[in-house]
Amino acid sequence: MSRPKKDRIVGSPPVVRVFKPQGIPVRALGMLRMTLDECEAMRLVDLCGLSHEEAAERMGVSRPTLTRLLAGAHEKVAKALVEGWALVVEKGPVSLQAERFFCEDCESTWTAKESDVCPECGSTHLSVWGGGFGRRRRRRGRC
Ligand SMILES: [Zn+2]
Repeated sequence: MSRPKKDRIVGSPPVVRVFKPQGIPVRALGMLRMTLDECEAMRLVDLCGLSHEEAAERMGVSRPTLTRLLAGAHEKVAKALVEGWALVVEKGPVSLQAERFFCEDCESTWTAKESDVCPECGSTHLSVWGGGFGRRRRRRGRC
């Protein structure tokens, strides 16, 4: 009997769900399915520069699981680029972190938007990051 899969924590899902080669109808392409946890592993390690240990801790998985997720993501991205597959990101076994707000001035972050000003410095230069999936939204390249 296998243990039930525990939800993986995804801090910042991708803003689009499908990538495909330009000029080829999607029905003429093979589809590769990447799960959101594979995508998050790649984001944390390749984009944010976290170690496998740090990324595993953020996602609430073991280091070997993180390494496996990362290997799966790398294989799919390589295959899509080299062989011209469409890449579709699916939700899979994850829980999305609550939407987070970011202050452009003092760089503090918080989860609940109680007012239109930063709770730390009172700035009104705020942006949203994290939360949601497959929705285009303004986001800074933060880790
Ligand atoms: Zn602030």
